[in-house]
Amino acid sequence: MAAIIELENISKHYSPTIIGVDKVSLAVEDGEFVTLLGPSGCGKSTLLRMIGGFEEPTAGTIRLADKDVTWDPPYKREVNMVFQDYALFPHMTVGQNVAYGLKTMKVAKSEIADHVRDALTLVGLYDKVDQRPQQLSGGQRQRIALARAIVRKPKVLLLDEPLSALDAKLREQMQLELKHLHEKVGITFIMVTHDQGEALVMSDRVVVMEKGRIAQQGKPQDLYDHPASPYVANFIGTTNFLPGQIAAGGDDLIRVEIGAGTISALPDGARPAGGVVTVGFRPEKARLLADGEGAQNILEGRIAEVIYYGLGLRVAVEIGNGERVFVDSLLPDRLALSAVPVVGAPARVAVEPHNVFVFEGSVAP
Ligand code: ADP
Ligand code: MG
Repeated sequence: MAAIIELENISKHYSPTIIGVDKVSLAVEDGEFVTLLGPSGCGKSTLLRMIGGFEEPTAGTIRLADKDVTWDPPYKREVNMVFQDYALFPHMTVGQNVAYGLKTMKVAKSEIADHVRDALTLVGLYDKVDQRPQQLSGGQRQRIALARAIVRKPKVLLLDEPLSALDAKLREQMQLELKHLHEKVGITFIMVTHDQGEALVMSDRVVVMEKGRIAQQGKPQDLYDHPASPYVANFIGTTNFLPGQIAAGGDDLIRVEIGAGTISALPDGARPAGGVVTVGFRPEKARLLADGEGAQNILEGRIAEVIYYGLGLRVAVEIGNGERVFVDSLLPDRLALSAVPVVGAPARVAVEPHNVFVFEGSVAP
């Protein structure tokens, strides 16, 4: 598939010391749903605004459908932006709000009503066409803002934290609605969020940003299963980190000495003996062993805390040196109360070598 957006070494320096975006290169395919993910201040909005033409880069090139648009104002780009606060006009009806963008494009009057009906039907709100924004709920207003953005049929829709003003339940519902809308309209979506769950649920591809740069990008499951750094492993999902040194290296099964014992791992590439590394594993990939049960990797310790979270239990196990690792387990219906871990009791944590990440250096995220 052809790239609809191509960013080449895009930078935005707000001042010599404030670097919003630092030499980002990124290609987005036609029809793709790409999410820019990262903590507050990592440059997501700056990058999105530059794609939309609301901010000028200090260096680099932006191409839209093979055309250099780096210095074009927003209205000259076939790109539209949905803002977090919706920015609907309160004195206009829903229909007038959606029609607004078409009027500025000089679309024939006879066609406007049809386009407005189509866009509102897509978001399931055509019955609200004569109401005013204040009469609608937050979720409905967000859908109107989406209808207004897609009615002009832009090549690319930019969405900056589009669901952040909604409460948790509605946000979850809107995540799926927005994903389905993307599938229906076939427009390229580039969304910004700091919510990793949202990014995983909605996107074809997630671009994780760190201090103005791309830390890693990939399909949600690839990022989750193969994070390239502790930063990514920590930002997407939860990871237990343990610093160590490689006792037996190689490109197959390696052994890493950590303070509390030895961990065997299957790293993605070759790792020489003596290397200083950090191993990591997901709480849900670890388990507590029953008495007498064996495993390839065992960390011995004591139960420090048991956290109930509805779907299951998260158990914190202290493995010496004050280090804690978390182990998640779903609560099976038949789990006897006597089997629930007790704080202070001895515990053995097991994790399979193929579920252990190996990162260069001893730097915890
Ligand atoms: P994000 O959307 O990931 O939270 P932003 O793109 O808003 O991050 O900001 C990236 C960096 O650029 C931050 O350090 C922020 O303070 C700075 N920044 C953003 N906008 C401006 C601006 N208009 N003037 C100066 N600095 C800015
Ligand atoms: Mg932002």
